[in-house]
Amino acid sequence: MPDSLVVIEPATEAVLDTVPRAGTAEVDEAVARARGAFPAWRALTPAARAERLRALVVVLESHHEELALIEARNAGKPIGDARGEIGMVIETFRYYAAAPERLLGDTIPVAGGQAFTFREPLGVVGLIVPWNFPLTIAAWKLAPALAAGNTAVLKPAELTPLSALRFAELAAEAAIPDGVINVVAGPGSTAGARLVEHPDVAKIAFTGSTSVGRSIAAGAAQTIKRVTLELGGKSANVVFADADLELAAEQVPGGAFANAGQDCCARSRILVEESVLDRFMSLLEPRVTSIRVGDPLDPSTEMGPLISAGQRDSVASFLDDGVPVAFRGSAPEGDGYWFAPTVLAPTDRDARVMQEEVFGPVVAVMPFRDEEDAVQLANDTIYGLSGSIWTRDGARALRVARAIDSGVLSINSNNSVRVATPFGGFKQSGYGRELGPRALDAYTEVKSIYYSTS
Ligand code: NAD
Repeated sequence: MPDSLVVIEPATEAVLDTVPRAGTAEVDEAVARARGAFPAWRALTPAARAERLRALVVVLESHHEELALIEARNAGKPIGDARGEIGMVIETFRYYAAAPERLLGDTIPVAGGQAFTFREPLGVVGLIVPWNFPLTIAAWKLAPALAAGNTAVLKPAELTPLSALRFAELAAEAAIPDGVINVVAGPGSTAGARLVEHPDVAKIAFTGSTSVGRSIAAGAAQTIKRVTLELGGKSANVVFADADLELAAEQVPGGAFANAGQDCCARSRILVEESVLDRFMSLLEPRVTSIRVGDPLDPSTEMGPLISAGQRDSVASFLDDGVPVAFRGSAPEGDGYWFAPTVLAPTDRDARVMQEEVFGPVVAVMPFRDEEDAVQLANDTIYGLSGSIWTRDGARALRVARAIDSGVLSINSNNSVRVATPFGGFKQSGYGRELGPRALDAYTEVKSIYYSTS
């Protein structure tokens, strides 16, 4: 019998639930179930597989509010954000439900005959996800994986297993066949590591920290597993003097403090052209200090707690570095892993808060001289995931966007994640792309067949 995983509600520090803790034996059983289900799932006609995924969409739609509530309580998200995230889960399955019938190959004329290519599923895929967007990130992997004919073992983060466990029940309700989706709620060091080393797992799709990503890439090398890695970030907001500064000041906080800053895409460095620094800061301050931090279930809440005491300590350590505080908002006191939104004003471009992922509501402001300096500063980290450019000059916006080494960027917006567009990182933010039409590449092998006509 597995022992238990105690799930804490971050807004109250109370026990929210207790679920069986999966270890290596449970992972082995789940992989065996997924392996058993693979031949029949793969053999479904594309139309039949699409039909199953559409049935899942219908069941998810009818449990939208329930799943949002689970996510809000388990991950400490404002309920409005949680509803939006479950909306994206549904949209992701709807988008990839159309994929089985569009998974096309090529016909290639060659000497002596004809060559064709087919996109074959990989087999059993292992999906390892973090706690910050538990079901959303799981859906980004599950939907294209299943659409392409794979079966899956999903390992949620040990802090936030509840939405994935409920999702598996709903998948059964939607008549997704047994063994196609398997959830193992267990620690990374045991359940996650076993998935990575398991010889019957063909691929690991991982989202999490860059340090764990390194160990996953190394572990997967033993069995030449396919790997995609969505890792950390240290993204920049680049605010030029010619920007609509009111708009930038209104939107920059959303890009930096959404999900209490526990967002791989958080634009946690705010780079501002020095000629408008003072004016921009005076516009930004009231926007940050008025962020409503509190009970995730109160519809007026804009920012919830951090996920754990450990995360709060890790975020607080950035305030111990002696970097001047520009301004801070406020947060509740008492039970709950609360942290006030905080803007720091380092003078040193190599300060830790300018280089390391905080993964919490602490951001740094740094002035730049000109366009060249802005690009140099934006690129001056090991990461390359996301970012925003604020300017009214369209040519400059495109020049700077092309020059920043980052997988996703937005211009005059704090949002660049869409179901229909590719998402993933440059540099140590990872490799591979999720979402959009090409996500299917990550869950298929290309097979080339030559047919002799001579
Ligand atoms: P984490 O790396 O600690 O854990 C992520 C997952 O990996 C969890 O399920 C964990 O149990 C598992 N894991 C841990 N050690 C493992 C091991 N040795 N073998 C196999 N699995 C293991 O990350 P986290 O703290 O849950 O999430 C925060 C991190 O995730 C941040 O760095 C953030 O930037 C990153 N993230 C990236 C994206 C993206 O798409 N690029 C999205 C969200 C979060």
